[in-house]
Amino acid sequence: MTQSLITPTQTPLLGLSLSELTEWVQQQGQPAYRGKQLYQWIYQKGAKSLADITVFSKQWREEIKHFPIGRSAIHYRSVAPDKTVKYLLQLSDGNIIETVGIPSHKRLTVCVSSQVGCPMACDFCATGKGGFTRNLEAYEIIDQVLTVQEDFERRVSHIVFMGMGEPLLNTKNVLAAVKSLNQDVGIGQRNITISTVGIRDRIRQLAQHKLQVTLAVSLHASNQRLREHLIPSAKSYPLGDLIADCR
Ligand code: SF4
Repeated sequence: MTQSLITPTQTPLLGLSLSELTEWVQQQGQPAYRGKQLYQWIYQKGAKSLADITVFSKQWREEIKHFPIGRSAIHYRSVAPDKTVKYLLQLSDGNIIETVGIPSHKRLTVCVSSQVGCPMACDFCATGKGGFTRNLEAYEIIDQVLTVQEDFERRVSHIVFMGMGEPLLNTKNVLAAVKSLNQDVGIGQRNITISTVGIRDRIRQLAQHKLQVTLAVSLHASNQRLREHLIPSAKSYPLGDLIADCR
């Protein structure tokens, strides 16, 4: 017997694939084609609640409306003169994260966060000074991209993991988000950049997944002494080892 992909708890639906959503609707006693409708409403039509999905019967919507999709609320939004938009998003547990939408003539890039806060404590970084709260779930990363896409009313073309947090300290959820952003949201892996200050062993582990994403390593200094001053964790990961791991 194959094991169910869906846990009985109220796991948010965002991040599930078409086949997983199809399995979910069938678990709710609905025909398989409802899975495709749910998939389209989550990833293309920006449904925030199952109660919004008007192709479903009123009665079924009433029955399932307590299952969360996993979308955040825009807590604060500011637009810079160059049209870059900075968002503070409020998560379901009340935590706030930062996301940035960066438009240009041909691109819409989203700078996403991977953690609430950051434990790396880099000397120059406000996020690092605020400490670490928790890793983001995959759906909370995907939500940032959908939020920017909907707000700009334009397709996101590029993603950079350069917001709050060190993505290689949350590799499992970052990789799950990358998979869904690629397959469900339709963003090419080559247009996704994961930026790291360098975490021992994690660069090699990431390479084993043979993704087509770009890895950007922020050295912040060209010599080990200054680097250790700016990035405390660099003491245990000397520049030579880091460069060797990147090769
Ligand atoms: S890893 Fe990035 S987010 Fe974390 S403290 Fe350093 S610069 Fe800031």
